[in-house]
Amino acid sequence: MNFTGIIKHIDLLGRVKFPKGLLKSCNISPEDLVQIYQQNNSIVVTHISNTCILCSSNENIHIFNNKPICKSCCFKILKELNLR
Ligand SMILES: [Zn+2]
Repeated sequence: MNFTGIIKHIDLLGRVKFPKGLLKSCNISPEDLVQIYQQNNSIVVTHISNTCILCSSNENIHIFNNKPICKSCCFKILKELNLR
C-alpha cells in the first residue's frame, strides 16, 4: 500500500473525488469500473477492466465472479448450456 498523503472530505451524499493524477497513475479512466469492498476498518477501491474477458467487447459489461463478461457472451454461454 502506498500512502499518497492526500486527505479528502466525503461530501453530503457520501462521495469522494479522486485526484486525476492518482487515477492516471493507477491507469483508471473516467467510465471505468471499480470494485469497492471493506477490509477490516478500511474501504478499498480496485480497478476492474471494463472489457469482456471472452471477446474484449466493452459494451454491456456485467461483473460475474469479479470478472467482466459482456451481455452477448452471457447469452452465448446460456445458449451453450441449454443445448447440453
Ligand atoms: Zn464478450
